[in-house]
Amino acid sequence: MQVVLATANVGKLQEIIAILSDLRISFLSLASLHGYIPSVESGVTYAENAAAKAKAAAEFSGYWALADDSGIEVDALGGQPGVHSGRYLCVTATDQERNQRILELLDGMPLQRRGAHFQCGVAVAGPGGELSIFHGSCYGSIAEAPYGNSGFGYDPIFIVPDFGVTMAALPPDVKNGISHRARAIEKTKPLLRRLSLTAA
Ligand code: IMP
Repeated sequence: MQVVLATANVGKLQEIIAILSDLRISFLSLASLHGYIPSVESGVTYAENAAAKAKAAAEFSGYWALADDSGIEVDALGGQPGVHSGRYLCVTATDQERNQRILELLDGMPLQRRGAHFQCGVAVAGPGGELSIFHGSCYGSIAEAPYGNSGFGYDPIFIVPDFGVTMAALPPDVKNGISHRARAIEKTKPLLRRLSLTAA
């Protein structure tokens, strides 16, 4: 069975493929859908954005499609940047600039006020209009300085309490066992297994 992974984010692609590697699925990238133009994210929830991405890719390609929309919610910033995480500061800002801004805003705050969590909404859409939504989250806190070379995005400033280091300091297979994305994607497996059996 072939499933379109409806994301252009290489970090996400690698993680999703690794998390689903025990299923008998081969993946198609958006780049392989010639002429496909992804729409701009305009939803107010992760689920809405993920659904829009997956539905558009399924409709265009005629295959089942899976999309994820994620963000980080910082308690001391009233949950910002949240669903706007990918556009935080401005669409062209780098991950380093976004992380630096959050660190500046939290400068001097004690650990107990540095709580944050990642949220992930995953949508699986079918070519006939089928749609299922799954959620995952991962709780932790914001570090005082960025560190770690793995992962992407906000990983260098997000401390995972069980490991006491940032998400970017964890090996990829460890992140893929505990992350918001892993928790949401794991929930898609019964559906994807059923679909792959039907397609076989
Ligand atoms: P989107 O889901 O592609 O819109 O991503 C929203 C923002 O969250 C982007 O800035 C991503 O880099 C960031 N992001 C998404 N997933 C993760 C993650 O697993 N770790 C760190 N940052 C992430």
